[in-house]
Amino acid sequence: MSKALPIYSVTPFTMLDFPERTACIVWFSGCNMRCGYCHNPQIVKGKGRGTAEQVLTFLEKRQGLLDGVVLSGGEASVYPGLPEFIRQLKSMNYAIKLDTNGLRPDIVRDFLNDGFLDYVALDYKAPPEKFKRVTGIDKFAAFSETLNLLCHQARVPFEVRTTVHTALMDEDDISSIMRDLDARPYRGTYYVQNFCADNDRPTLKNLPPQTRVLDINRLPKAQNFLTDFRNF
Ligand code: SF4
Repeated sequence: MSKALPIYSVTPFTMLDFPERTACIVWFSGCNMRCGYCHNPQIVKGKGRGTAEQVLTFLEKRQGLLDGVVLSGGEASVYPGLPEFIRQLKSMNYAIKLDTNGLRPDIVRDFLNDGFLDYVALDYKAPPEKFKRVTGIDKFAAFSETLNLLCHQARVPFEVRTTVHTALMDEDDISSIMRDLDARPYRGTYYVQNFCADNDRPTLKNLPPQTRVLDINRLPKAQNFLTDFRNF
């Protein structure tokens, strides 16, 4: 049996995914969640096609042309070789953005302590009572620990974001998340994006079609952080 490879693919250039950086995106295969609306089932369940060494070779040649690397997926933190991979990227002076679902606070804590991270995008999937329904796993406490780490210990800029499929979540759920963010306290930007069906891209599970989008007028006004609503 062939050994599973960690890298699904690389997007060689983006100016949209890492604030104030010209970056590439490394898509890691595998994920520790099973969100029904996931548009990347081939990444979550599929085998990787490349090695970390191949990506490092590519990025050696891009020094001076790119200044950041986005670690995305799937979920990058499931790759056991991630610390060494980041160490190598740091030795090439790349800034690192980690996209994460927050299930590995131990890893995020180590990375923060080691100065590995320059930006974090954290998915707040659902409030505690809906967390398992949305993600397939009952680990809100782990996510919550990661959010607390970033709010209280990190000097690293980070953003929080939620994707809403209205067959799974409604205005009460987003209101609950906003109250929680306010209380932590979170003081950045909270991005809420509506799930957009794309007939060319399968989802991880069959979900009922959305019959409506979230009514953002029914959400509370955030007083202490910014909100950004997309595709509503
Ligand atoms: S949407 Fe969910 S299942 Fe898909 S990659 Fe993100 S965390 Fe994993």
